[in-house]
Amino acid sequence: MEKLVALCKRRGFIYPGSEIYGGLGGTWDYGPMGVELKKNIKDLWWREIVELRDDMVGIDAAIMMNPKAWEASGHVEAFTDPLVECKVCHLRFRSDKPDEIKQHIESHKGVKVDWTEPQQFNLLVKAYLGVLEGKQSELYLRGEITNGVHVNFKNIVNSMRVKIPFGVAQIGKAFRNEITPGNFVFRSREFEQMETQFYIKPDEAEGKKWFEYWKKNRIGWYLSLGLPKDKLRFHDHEPEKRAHYARMATDIEYLTPWGWDEMMGIHHRGDWDLSRHQQYSGKPMIYNDPETGDAFIPWDIETSAGIDRSLLFFLMDAYREEEKRIVLKLHPKLVPVKVAVFPLLANKPDLIIKAKEIYRNLKINIDGLVQWDDRGNIGKRYLAQDEVGTPYCVTVDFQTLEDDTVTIRDRDTTKQERIKVLGLLEYLQGKLS
Ligand code: ATP
Repeated sequence: MEKLVALCKRRGFIYPGSEIYGGLGGTWDYGPMGVELKKNIKDLWWREIVELRDDMVGIDAAIMMNPKAWEASGHVEAFTDPLVECKVCHLRFRSDKPDEIKQHIESHKGVKVDWTEPQQFNLLVKAYLGVLEGKQSELYLRGEITNGVHVNFKNIVNSMRVKIPFGVAQIGKAFRNEITPGNFVFRSREFEQMETQFYIKPDEAEGKKWFEYWKKNRIGWYLSLGLPKDKLRFHDHEPEKRAHYARMATDIEYLTPWGWDEMMGIHHRGDWDLSRHQQYSGKPMIYNDPETGDAFIPWDIETSAGIDRSLLFFLMDAYREEEKRIVLKLHPKLVPVKVAVFPLLANKPDLIIKAKEIYRNLKINIDGLVQWDDRGNIGKRYLAQDEVGTPYCVTVDFQTLEDDTVTIRDRDTTKQERIKVLGLLEYLQGKLS
């Protein structure tokens, strides 16, 4: 993990938040490479979940909501973690995380540790809105992005031609006053989620069917982007461990260096959210089935994934230390830089002109970032590109000027081959898709 954190800083993926002021616990800033990787994850998710499906629409709801929405959703009352304090050093931990408790006890090296009784600590982050001092209204930054979808259920049904079963997808930031942020971006206080709320008929068989469907669908997505089968598993929640809203719940877990841990959740939320919003707002959340004439509050099967966690696990899985290099073997669809173009030497105008022409053509036509690099020698440029996972490096050399061919170097094999400039774009597009 330490090596990955160092690489992320060195190569512009992730920096500690507010670093020059000594940081702000549990916040991280994504640098130029991190933002590309994150964007690719989000774009791939949106493409598959929204654009390629007929039964899903998107939304982008406000982060700040009327506080009543959080009372309705149960978050004001029940969005809590059990907090205990070490009476020796006054640090605070979650009593439901045995590994963290054990680690802390060990850090006292034999000194007996006493704990306070667990108390429920609410994770919602408060904010204040309004221009009159003393008359500002208190509200919450959203603790999960789900509610913005449910409160718009009727708007979506009335403005779009959707018919149950259908889903609503959303990507956005969430904020939690986490007791123990840690493990890099795994648990932070500001993070991003990508979620679907899939509305179905209130029927046990339908519920089971769609719950299983989304389990398979989501694990399949991570497999398709290169995470290995033996490092992914489902972890079903026992009834007493489920969140306040869940009828069925499972996590997709990834085998991290600290053991199996949650990457995302799939939850059967029943009619919890819509019923509660109906009750608290007084506005009906009834769906009128145009085919059967039935009127009902739909059930919801939710998929909720942390983007930062997904990104961290993609990075962890891709990180390799080889004899002479560190390389990120990221899936080509995820990589921050798709192709790098090098002139063999930086001080030969003929080479530069030709290389720039090739570079511009690739930059305009390749979907994603294409980078130019003419610093140092070719070997060093390869090493730098390996560390951000660039799958292909194109070098323009003196032979290019004679026969219009370039070398393409493959990140994984480190082999180079010569190919005609004429077919270069199609060749790379084929490899990257
Ligand atoms: P945990 O028990 O690990 O704190 P959770 O079960 O509370 O997580 P959910 O409320 O189900 O998490 O949130 C859905 C997803 O959002 C999680 O699977 C995770 O990917 C992401 N997530 C939740 N909290 C955080 C956080 N503090 N930092 C980064 N990602 C988070």
